[in-house]
Amino acid sequence: MNRYAVIVAGGSGSRMGSETPKQFLPIGNAPILMHTIKRFFTSNELVNIVLVLPQEQIERWHQLCEKYSFSIPHLIVSGGKNRFQSVRNGLNSIGVNEGLVAIHDGVRPFISKRIIEETFAVAEQKGNAVAAVGLKDSIRLIDKKGNKSVQREDYRIIQTPQTFKISQIRDAFHKADTDQFTDDASVAEAAGYSIELVDGSYENIKITTPEDLAMAEAILKKFDY
Ligand code: C5P
Repeated sequence: MNRYAVIVAGGSGSRMGSETPKQFLPIGNAPILMHTIKRFFTSNELVNIVLVLPQEQIERWHQLCEKYSFSIPHLIVSGGKNRFQSVRNGLNSIGVNEGLVAIHDGVRPFISKRIIEETFAVAEQKGNAVAAVGLKDSIRLIDKKGNKSVQREDYRIIQTPQTFKISQIRDAFHKADTDQFTDDASVAEAAGYSIELVDGSYENIKITTPEDLAMAEAILKKFDY
C-alpha cells in the first residue's frame, strides 16, 4: 500500500514568542523540523514525505536544508491560514486515492518508529488510527457556573500521527462545513467515521512554548537515533 506522511509546519508559532518560526528553531544539532522528518524517513524509507510550510518561509527552508546538508527527499507544499487548510493543501498534493497517510505535527520530533508503524497497521485494518495518551493530572470542567471535577480516566490527550486511509480523510475534508478543527480525527468524526486510538507516548511532545524547548533538549539526549 502507498504510504504518505503529511508533516504540517504551516503555522507561525506565535506562542513561542520568537521571530524564527518554532519549527525552524534548533534542538541538538538541527532544526526541530529536520528531526521530525528524519523520524519518518528512518521508520520506512519508502514513505513519501509531504512538508507543509508557510509560503513566506519556503526560501528560508531551502537555505536551512543547504546549511545542514539535509537530503531526505520531500515535497514542499504551501500552508493555509489555519491547520485545517494546511492539512487540506497537503492532502491535495497526493496524487492517488489508494493507500495510507499519516498526518503529523512538524513540531513533534520525538515520534517513535513503534507509534508510526502501529498507526499505519491499525489504519490499514480499521480506516484510521490516532495516537493518544492518558492524563497524568487531575482535570476540571469549566462551565458558566464555575468548575467541577471530572474523571480523568474518561479522557485522553490526543497527539499525532493521525493516520488514515487516504480515501477516508479526503472524504472527511470534502464534507467538512467549517475549517475550525484543531485536529484531523475531529474532521473524520464530523464526517461520520469512528476513531481508533493507539498508544502514543509522553515523549511525543508538541513543542509549543519556550519551556518546551528545554524539555525537548532533555528528551533528545536520551533518544536513540
Ligand atoms: O497551532 P497548533 O499548535 O495547533 O499547530 C499544530 C501544527 O499545525 C503545527 O505543526 C503547526 O505548524 C501546524 N499549522 C499549520 N498551518 C497553520 C497553523 C498550524 O500547518 N496555519
